[in-house]
Amino acid sequence: MVYTGRFAPSPTGPLHFGSLLAALASYLDARSHNGQWLVRIEDLDTPRVVKGATDSILNTLEQFGFEWHGPVIRQSDRLPIYHDILSQLIDNHLAYPCHCSRQQIFDRTGGRRYDGYCRTHPPKNSSDCAIRSHCEQRYPFDDLIQGHQPANDPTEDFVIFRRDGFFAYQLAVTIDDAEQQINHIVRGSDLLDSTPKQIHLQQQLGYPQPIYAHIPVATNVQGQKLSKQTLAPALDHQQARQQMIQALRFLGQQPVVELYDCRLEECLNWAIEHWDITAIPSQMSIVLETN
Ligand code: GLU
Repeated sequence: MVYTGRFAPSPTGPLHFGSLLAALASYLDARSHNGQWLVRIEDLDTPRVVKGATDSILNTLEQFGFEWHGPVIRQSDRLPIYHDILSQLIDNHLAYPCHCSRQQIFDRTGGRRYDGYCRTHPPKNSSDCAIRSHCEQRYPFDDLIQGHQPANDPTEDFVIFRRDGFFAYQLAVTIDDAEQQINHIVRGSDLLDSTPKQIHLQQQLGYPQPIYAHIPVATNVQGQKLSKQTLAPALDHQQARQQMIQALRFLGQQPVVELYDCRLEECLNWAIEHWDITAIPSQMSIVLETN
């Protein structure tokens, strides 16, 4: 089976150093296994999508020397596929409408996991409802970087279609990873909690389970994850090689001094040849000075 990995950015702004880490780690792991690396644009959360961000992301990936396999898939082109699978889950009683507001859930649970209220009290009118996956099971899994994830608590019944009419990330990502035959997922550890939900959907839909590796998340000096919200600066194309080398260091690789003078392409080739996923720190939070 061909190793198939991917990078799946949401076009909510330009790529920053945190996104470079995820792109680079997934790319190097794929290329060092002679695998394929796909790019998928996760643009379902329309209110958060920024105009021009998809082009900017693809341009930055090109400027940084990344080469992807096949066409770039955009989730916004795939709504009918998600609709079909959502209907299938509802018809098979694996998902159900829920009209609980956040406040109602909080009042009942005190902030703990969703209590399955609408599973036992189906809403009379299913318009203006979210759809939840019936889950409530434990999904322990092994992660190549974070180690064994024991799943002490069952996963709650989680939202797969939002009340505001958008498909939730969990459903779309699971369908797309399976359809694109992704068998290795390397991404940020901020998504570690999502993995049991995706494994649950894989099992309900009869999809194979990929191998997971969650890299530590880059934070600023305040300890916040680098993101558009925390004003992480965009990657600078003029500094591509330097940022690449910095990213390699953050990923626990040991770039040799010769890389500081070589072309970007040579730097990437060196990184593919010397890639060591076991050198990536696991629980450590990575701090980056932003201005
Ligand atoms: N689109 C998600 C993000 O940008 C990543 C999804 C994934 O890698 O599973 O945070």
